[in-house]
Amino acid sequence: MTTAAPARFPSGPELQELHTRINTWFAGIARDLPWRGPACSAWGVLVSEIMLQQTPVVRVLPVWHEWLKRWPTPAGLAGEPAGEAVRAWGRLGYPRRALRLHAAAVAIVQDHGGKVPDTYAELLALPGVGSYTAAAVAAFAYGRRETVVDTNIRRVHARLVSGVALPSPALTAAEMRLAARLLPDHDGTSVRWNAAVMELGALVCTARAPRCGDCPVRDSCAWRAAGEPPPSYVPKGQAWHGTDRQVRGAVMAVLRLADVPVPAEMFQREPADLGFAPGGIGVPLAALHRLNSAPEQLDRALAGLLADGLAEVHDGGYRLPA
Ligand code: SF4
Repeated sequence: MTTAAPARFPSGPELQELHTRINTWFAGIARDLPWRGPACSAWGVLVSEIMLQQTPVVRVLPVWHEWLKRWPTPAGLAGEPAGEAVRAWGRLGYPRRALRLHAAAVAIVQDHGGKVPDTYAELLALPGVGSYTAAAVAAFAYGRRETVVDTNIRRVHARLVSGVALPSPALTAAEMRLAARLLPDHDGTSVRWNAAVMELGALVCTARAPRCGDCPVRDSCAWRAAGEPPPSYVPKGQAWHGTDRQVRGAVMAVLRLADVPVPAEMFQREPADLGFAPGGIGVPLAALHRLNSAPEQLDRALAGLLADGLAEVHDGGYRLPA
């Protein structure tokens, strides 16, 4: 199994040189993303961090803009049913994140006067906010020195310092210690470092094919110095076609467009048989029907959505939570 313990830990001037090179590279190449601008509110940063956890930037951007336009403050979202958050989540995937954001907005209004709290501990206490999101919001919204560790940062640390192709499948305490030791002392520099290493992992030190020729620290990279050893495990792919997740996604697409509860039998019949004209809810119903799921898989998908609070039964049909 891969270990993320550092082969040789950079320190002193060598570490400072890493900070300078990566932060300088970032200053010249950073993508102009709206949640990075000085005008973005802490709420905008929190929304972006939760949306970006499992969804690429290009898909997040339009939904983030729509959310911030509709709910510019936590109070706006908290004042609407959770189902509206799920509806507006659209096709970002993993829609439980919409419920988490809604629950966080409610707690921010109830416990913090509608203002996103500014400390790691208070952020972590919000429902649905984990250690990564709490650290990221404290750092990127409030300029605090926090150890931010996401997938991209873990991969850069693993290669650059630990000399392995991939970090461990799950985050380890050793990785957190490594990230904490690499963090610059100065608040502002540490915030830039967190963002810069994340960007390096997203754009250059990518999972499948790192573009080392474009890397600002290639001559310090432990993985290259070790002869670019292959990963010690094969990362699990995210299967999609034919999975329960795909069926759940297709059912959610129907519920997002439905303005009345949808009876279970509708999920299994051809939209044309149900008398739907082309367009409207007939489109996601037809997409669901094309999956040709076994009845038990559809039952599992519906039961899972109920269990996760993403749907509820009302008047003999399914709808988004009120
Ligand atoms: S040199 Fe290559 S592997 Fe090493 S940190 Fe840079 S991009 Fe990643």
